[in-house]
Amino acid sequence: MNGIGKLYFRYGTMGSAKTAMLLTQAYNFEERGMQYLCMKPIIDDRENDNVIRSRIGIERKCSWIYPDSDLYMMLKEMFDTTLVVKDWILIDEAQFLSAQQIDQLARIVDDYGVNVVCYGLRTDFQSHLFEGSRRLFELADTIEEIKSTCSCGRKTIINARIDSQGNIVTDGNQVEIGGDDKYVSLCRRCWRNRRIESTSRNTIKFEDK
Ligand SMILES: [Zn+2]
Repeated sequence: MNGIGKLYFRYGTMGSAKTAMLLTQAYNFEERGMQYLCMKPIIDDRENDNVIRSRIGIERKCSWIYPDSDLYMMLKEMFDTTLVVKDWILIDEAQFLSAQQIDQLARIVDDYGVNVVCYGLRTDFQSHLFEGSRRLFELADTIEEIKSTCSCGRKTIINARIDSQGNIVTDGNQVEIGGDDKYVSLCRRCWRNRRIESTSRNTIKFEDK
């Protein structure tokens, strides 16, 4: 039996440097000769470049997690065939995992003594929990917030979706493939004010016609 592992959830809004933190952690493990593995759910089928990349320019190879991947079986098989149990598993965009996949990760932690660190968003653009995030809040041993600051100085809470004019978008699919320029991280107060502004701008446009 291995050491006692933990399931971690490190959450923050978009742009809170979660990916940079994950990659820094990976770098530190390499320096110390520790076994680790990076993983990431595949969102866009056209994506074939299996790397985790941050805006500050570092990247690491990762294993893809598919919607139907059984993470317990996948990691068990890897450990059994290579006879190497990774000490740390680092997962980016963990909000996109299913509740079942989080359960599978928890079982890997408990059976193999591995540490699994999930980085992800707390809520979607409508301020509701993602499925994976909800299950992580329910099961994780350690929950840490990665804080970032709104332009007004308060802590960011909301990942608001914006259109090309910068208006807040309130309807749509939970997951929208596309660039980070479709989102802005805001505190709750600015989110409310920006929504009111967006609504009145749209109303004025309508009255002009
Ligand atoms: Zn604000």
